[in-house]
Amino acid sequence: MHPLTRCLCLLGSCVALSACTQFSKLQIHDKAYLDDQKIEESYQKTAALQAKGENGEDIVVNKETLRLLHDVRQRLEKTSGQTFEYAIVDSDSHSHLLMSHDNKEYVTFSMQFLDKFGSDPDIIAAVVAHDLAHIADKDTGDAIENREIGFFVARQVISAALSVVGTPIAGYAASAAMSGAEQAEISLEEDKVNPVGMQWLLDSGYTPCGYIKIKQYDDDNTGLGSPLKFMGSHPGISGRAQLAQDHVAANPKIVCPAPPAKPSEPPSADTAAAATPSAASAQQ
Ligand SMILES: [Zn+2]
Repeated sequence: MHPLTRCLCLLGSCVALSACTQFSKLQIHDKAYLDDQKIEESYQKTAALQAKGENGEDIVVNKETLRLLHDVRQRLEKTSGQTFEYAIVDSDSHSHLLMSHDNKEYVTFSMQFLDKFGSDPDIIAAVVAHDLAHIADKDTGDAIENREIGFFVARQVISAALSVVGTPIAGYAASAAMSGAEQAEISLEEDKVNPVGMQWLLDSGYTPCGYIKIKQYDDDNTGLGSPLKFMGSHPGISGRAQLAQDHVAANPKIVCPAPPAKPSEPPSADTAAAATPSAASAQQ
């Protein structure tokens, strides 16, 4: 077989096999773009919002979460000057993400994330403020998806080409290097937008505690098999939590609540103090 033909065959099969596991959007079982008018109607009636996913799933936003989403949007749109819509996905791999649809940007939560944090204003506002900073930086849902596809294709081309003209090992190494380049580009973007979202969050009257709480849950659920391992799936949570910690340390009036104790191992006085640096700094 001609090397080029072999290369193309390899590339085709790599793409087909790998795409299913590598594209984050393929982890989404169903999604619903929430209608603004329906959000407003349900909000006025203090009712839950019922939506139908594109694959037919019933997606329900309870009245408490709906009120929170509504109020957070009102405050953050005013502060940031950005506009956006809400969407919900059924995905056990996502906490939150941006999606572009019909020329609009959707701040998208997973049902699983809202089940856990849908009544926590700190967390909902922290997510929205951060995602708005991505939108303001033109790092939209489409831009994020295009970056993911671009790096994926580059990895496959390099890997397939080098396995023909070089050695398979060289292909793997080059592919890994490309993954590193993708991570570096993502980190750069997160570092750029983190302070912007944080400022909008504070200017809207929220505490930065949400980032610290998400990081805490992420740390507690990184083990394989944990139902909450998706918690930190939006990159850069460590940077946001650090920014938040720095702000809390500099503002003793802000005291983030201590993370809930794990039922199996109640914290000692020492570990509880260590786990709440904000409270500790407030006492200094
Ligand atoms: Zn981000």
